[in-house]
Amino acid sequence: MVPAVLLGRCPRCGSGPLFSGLLTVRDTCPECGLDLRAHDAGDGPAMAGIFIVGALAVIAALVVDAKYQPPLWLHAVLWPVIVLPLALLVMRLAKALLVALQYRHRLRISA
Ligand SMILES: [Zn+2]
Repeated sequence: MVPAVLLGRCPRCGSGPLFSGLLTVRDTCPECGLDLRAHDAGDGPAMAGIFIVGALAVIAALVVDAKYQPPLWLHAVLWPVIVLPLALLVMRLAKALLVALQYRHRLRISA
């Protein structure tokens, strides 16, 4: 399950791509046909992004500010460049993990 999550693969076959875009989960796995619409991560990935990346960014900003005292404009330029890609990465991993856990524990969302 861990390699499938890290690589963004289907939780059943481990070879089909889970995402059709950056954060969009496919409707079905192109390799094994697993219906991925029944697995909804909801707001979990966003919460992971907020809590994990937000905490790390605040700590890093405080450390950098205390150690180097850069001007505020440098903070304004530096942190979005680091935080935005990191937040997308964390949200993608969290979404793959939540879909894999829902598949593993047979939790299906019926709409
Ligand atoms: Zn599959």
